[in-house]
Parts: sequence; structure tokens; C-alpha cells
Amino acid sequence: MATHGRRRTRLDPGSRRKAGPGTRAVHAGEPARAGEPLTVPIYQSSAFLLDRPAYDDIAAGRHQARWVYTRWGNPTAAALEAKVAALEGCPAAVAVSSGMAAISATVLGLLGRGDRVLASRDLYGGTLGFLRGLGARGIAADLADQADAAAMGRAMRKGTRLVFLESITNPLLRLPELDGIAALAAERGIPVAVDNTFATPVNLRPFCHGSSLVIHSATKYLGGHSDLVAGVVAGADAPLARVRAANEELGGTPDPHTAFLVSRGIKTLQLRMQRHNENGLAVARLLEGHPRVARVMYPGLESHPQHALARRLLDGFGGMVSFEIRGGLPAAMRFLRSLRLFLQAATLGGVESLATVPALTSHAHLPPAERRRMGISDGLVRLSVGIEDIGDLVEDLERGLRGSRG
Ligand SMILES: *Cc1c(COP(=O)(O)O)cnc(C)c1O
Repeated sequence: MATHGRRRTRLDPGSRRKAGPGTRAVHAGEPARAGEPLTVPIYQSSAFLLDRPAYDDIAAGRHQARWVYTRWGNPTAAALEAKVAALEGCPAAVAVSSGMAAISATVLGLLGRGDRVLASRDLYGGTLGFLRGLGARGIAADLADQADAAAMGRAMRKGTRLVFLESITNPLLRLPELDGIAALAAERGIPVAVDNTFATPVNLRPFCHGSSLVIHSATKYLGGHSDLVAGVVAGADAPLARVRAANEELGGTPDPHTAFLVSRGIKTLQLRMQRHNENGLAVARLLEGHPRVARVMYPGLESHPQHALARRLLDGFGGMVSFEIRGGLPAAMRFLRSLRLFLQAATLGGVESLATVPALTSHAHLPPAERRRMGISDGLVRLSVGIEDIGDLVEDLERGLRGSRG
């Protein structure tokens, strides 16, 4: 929703103190006038009643100036957009139907035939597959190491119109040299998009580090309860207008009820992330000292190769922890079978703890040699550490590690 008049907001823009992230998560985008509902209602309607001025706006291509049709905009989705924009510190946001809708609308909104996208080599599998498939549309994808700003800079070519990064990667939990890459891209006038799904705005705000667009699979931490599929793109007004226009055409609009559920989830995002951060660090420390574990990957550990960068960029290290179990795939499978509390499911970022083996799930389609080259061994386990009591999680992991012995 671009322009439905100036909305009255609960957060006072004149206040000298900028509201904190917990306050913004609760109040941004919510109704502020007497007589309005306390929480944003679900406008479960596909369309809105029209009058003569509305026809004039539609005829003039100003359909964004009012509520007309839910694929073009809906008040419940607009509330979610205001919330995410406030949390990411961006002027605006567009709510969409999934993380992949956010990624495809961003790329197709900004790029056309003859353009190039420069992406991190180490991206969510769905994103990499989508970027590789762009060749058919005449858009080329170049890949480089996002941990090395100079290498990313060298890979920016004539025709590069977008740089695409991830704030924390799956499953190796690597970070981008965000400030360095953003500076090199800015010199060339190239916008940077960051998929911030793993870090969330509680732990990292890429817009404040020079990226123009911030992408979320709201299916994960923003929703937070493993009960919906949605996405959001936040960012600067000009590139975001193109993303919104592309999404309108592609049709990746969220259902109003889902938009409501994401907004509701976000109200507790800061509380949940504090617990994910605490539990993630405690689990990483436990694993690092365990004889059944060969290696732990967690940005909050001193042993992480980018720990200094993580301390600079992140306010918390998150709930995702990966580790290599001794004994390869058979040991990893025995580990999974021995767990009771950590469940097995192909998602992350919810309140419940999950354990997966990337060689069996996200990276199963790759030949083993290719996986090893990427640093994904068959004994690699990825944990999405939930918000349960840490004593119960520790007990379960110890049970799993005992059970992993052959
Ligand atoms: C899950 C995920 C996506 C895709 O999101 P969907 O909501 O499943 O479409 C994109 N990026 C990252 C980092 C993810 O974890």
C-alpha cells in the first residue's frame, strides 16, 4: 500500500527517542484512532466497493491510491508491511505469499533481458535454482564468495544490476562482508538485496549496512510458529515500487488471514529471538565440548571463522546451529532416531526445536562429491533450536549423541 493518505500511527515520529525493536514489533502498523479495533482486523475480502473517483484512479493507473482488489493491496497486508518496514528501518515493505515469491518478485522486478545478477555462491537451494534458471529469460547469474568483499567487487561486471546476499547461510552459517560489498556496489550504482531470513531484524538490519532491499521468508522466524507460508520484501521506495509491480503481475499476494498471522507472530519476535539466541549459544557450547562432535558451526563461537564479523554485524547469533557428528551418515541417522524433543521437519525458525541432515534433505539432490566441495559432509546435522527450556534441550541432545554411537 503506497498512498492511502498519511496513516495515523501509534509510534510518535516526533519523539526524540526512537522506539526500540520490541515496541516497534508490537505497535507498528496497528490502528491508532479512537473507535478503531485494538489489533488489525482480517479484511477477508477479495475486493472493495467502488465509486466514481475510484474509476478515475483506476483509469489513470493509480489503483495503488485506494483499496480496489486484494491482489493490488489489502489493509491487513498493509499493516504487516508497516510492521516489517519499521523493524528493518526501511521506508516501506511489500508483503508476498512466500519467501520464494519475495525472491522472484525482487529479481524479476529489477532485472530484464541482458542484465546480470551477482549472487553469493552459498545461497538457499531454491534461490540458487531460480537464479540458474534465469538464463532462459536472458538474465545471467554470476556467483562469488560473499565472505570476501574484494572477490564480490571483482565479480561485479558491466551489466550487473543486482547483488544478492544472505545474512546467515544454510547450513554452514556463513556471513557476508556486508559493509564492504555494499560500498563496492554503491560505487557502481548496483542495489544490494539481502535475504535476512536467518538473522531476522532483531539480530541484523541490512538496510542500515547499505543494502537497498531486505528479503524474508516469513514462513520461518517472522511467523515463528510453523503454521504459515509467507514472505516480505522491505527497502527503499524506488526499487520496492518495481518489486511491488512485479509481484502484482506474478500474483504472489498473501492471503489476508496469513498476513494477519505473520503480524501476530512478529509481535513476539523480539522475545522469541532473545530465547533463540540464548538457547542457540548454549547448544553450540554444549556441542563444541562433546566427544561425539567433530566440529560446530555457530557465529557466536570464537571458533567460527567469521566470529569477529559476526560480533560487528549481529546483535544476537540466532537459533541455527550446525555440527558434524563423528561417524558420518549412519551416526547422523542414529542421532536423529534417538532424539525425542528435537523433531524432524523440512523447515526452521519456529518455536519448536528441529534437527535435519542436509545430505538427506536440502542438499540431497547433489552428488556427494559436490556436497563435500561445498563443505557439507554426510555427518552434518542442522539444528533449528526452539524456545523450549534449555535443560530439556540439553538432555535430548545428550541422548541423541549417546545414541549416535554405532
Ligand atoms: C525457506 C527459505 C526461503 C524460501 O522461503 P519459502 O517461504 O519457503 O518460499 C528463502 N530463503 C531462505 C534463507 C529460507 O530459509
